[in-house]
Amino acid sequence: MEQAGLRQQSLASTPATAVQKRVALIFSGTLVCVVLSALPFARQVPFHAPVFNILSSAFASFANLITAYLLFGQFLRTRRPFLAQLAATYLFSSLIILPYVLTFPSFLWPHSWPHVGAQTSSWLNIFLRIGFPLGIFCSMLLELCSKGQPLSTRRTTIISTLIPIIVSLLVVILSFIAINFSSSLPVLSMNGNYKITNTLGIRLTILALDLAAAIICVIQARRGTVLHVWLSVATVAALFDAGLYQWSGSLYSIGWYLSRINGLIASTVVLAMLLYRVNRLYETIAQQNDLLEQHKTDLEKKNEQLERQNQMQKDFVSIVGHEFRTALTTIQGFGEVIAEDTLTSEEIKEYVSDMCSEAHRLSRLITEQLDLDRMRSGLMQLKSEVVDLNDLIKELAHRANTQSLEHEIRLDLERSLPSLWADRDRLTQVLLNLLSNAIKYSPEGGEIVISSMREGAWIHLAVQDQGIGIPPEKLEQIFEQYTRIDSESSRFIGGTGLGLSVVAVTLQKNGGTVSAESAEGKGSTFHVKLPLVRMPIMAEPVSVW
Ligand code: ADP
Repeated sequence: MEQAGLRQQSLASTPATAVQKRVALIFSGTLVCVVLSALPFARQVPFHAPVFNILSSAFASFANLITAYLLFGQFLRTRRPFLAQLAATYLFSSLIILPYVLTFPSFLWPHSWPHVGAQTSSWLNIFLRIGFPLGIFCSMLLELCSKGQPLSTRRTTIISTLIPIIVSLLVVILSFIAINFSSSLPVLSMNGNYKITNTLGIRLTILALDLAAAIICVIQARRGTVLHVWLSVATVAALFDAGLYQWSGSLYSIGWYLSRINGLIASTVVLAMLLYRVNRLYETIAQQNDLLEQHKTDLEKKNEQLERQNQMQKDFVSIVGHEFRTALTTIQGFGEVIAEDTLTSEEIKEYVSDMCSEAHRLSRLITEQLDLDRMRSGLMQLKSEVVDLNDLIKELAHRANTQSLEHEIRLDLERSLPSLWADRDRLTQVLLNLLSNAIKYSPEGGEIVISSMREGAWIHLAVQDQGIGIPPEKLEQIFEQYTRIDSESSRFIGGTGLGLSVVAVTLQKNGGTVSAESAEGKGSTFHVKLPLVRMPIMAEPVSVW
């Protein structure tokens, strides 16, 4: 839908800004004033400059061609028939100027072309002056009748193929008539002086057509679109130029020069404005397309995230189910053996200790899950207290050293590390999780280094091990709930996939971050960053999965 909406955007639907409307009004008002103030001396003939006629005609032809091309593009974009008619009108105006210039008696052809009648260029000029307002008038009528209905793609293709052919044919036919039958057509001018009386009908028709085109365009300009506003400027200018041209009475008169110059300025300004707006339009459309693309990517990402969540929930059921079954089977097995009463007190002690550790594992699983849920939903109130991190690290390392004799835990702590504001219990949980992972995923004898240092307004902690490592593509996923890496070396290491999620959410709640770097088979380092400044306790839910 949105893509279709973008496709429909065109100069005929983009509203002109208030400034543009004012500029258009001032511009056409100036042209009208110039024409009116030139009327008293419009008939004076200052000098003959055929080269001016040729150059101005060539320029007008070029400007009309570009306008036709632009309108043609708008037609293909919107498939609205009146735009095809407009494009055809401008194309006609552009093409018919060529035979006009070639047959105009000038320094190129002092007596006009051989075989070309004396009236040929005058008649071609008349065809142009009739064709332009007629075409504009018809296109506006077409717009009123078609009520904005776009054509089918097939019709659009057919029309866009036919337009250049039909317009070129029309120009050829009219040129043929003007060249071969100009002597049988009414005489338009004699030695450059217009024959007004015997061609009054034609001249009045031209003025009437110009007037009709200007009126319908001004009425349509009330829609306020860029195209209609500037089309009304073009037709009002054409009307007053036609009036001045007829009034001037002869070639090379001041009125004739002025009408040429006015026409040129009008068509150039209108073209420039349309080009400018079309550029802006494409820029806007490109931006909207970018936004749509961005939106699509966001949706795709969200989709992926949802799929992952779904998978994680499935994993959770199977992981938790598996963990519970394993633990309960162990507890049940030991319980049954103890109940048989055949064991020594030493064996009973050992079995009870195993049962306790299984129960402890289950309780940890449930506690971590509950902690996570409470933190995410904002139900867990975090304390804000002064924590000496180095002390905390030393305490935990000492505890771990006494429990795990197989690993050497080395400390590399910055002596003057400042204290920070945080929830001590939660930070303990973070460090314990990272430390127990380092122990769990390292072979016996592997060194574990815990370091602390100040980095500007942050405290940086690192827990480094020489363990099995993490594949690079999993480095971000491991902080998501229930993510466990299934590899040869980690398959038989127990875990829930919750520890690092707890770490990530806790740190986020304390205004900190966690990241990991690792080389498979060589070890991993987990970096924790905590702000030194006191963070407001965030009670709102956290959206980390
Ligand atoms: P678990 O209870 O499975 O250890 P965690 O959330 O703590 O859950 O860790 C998620 C996964 O990240 C682990 O299953 C493991 O594959 C990987 N992992 C975490 N810490 C390390 C580490 N220090 N070395 C190698 N792999 C690790």
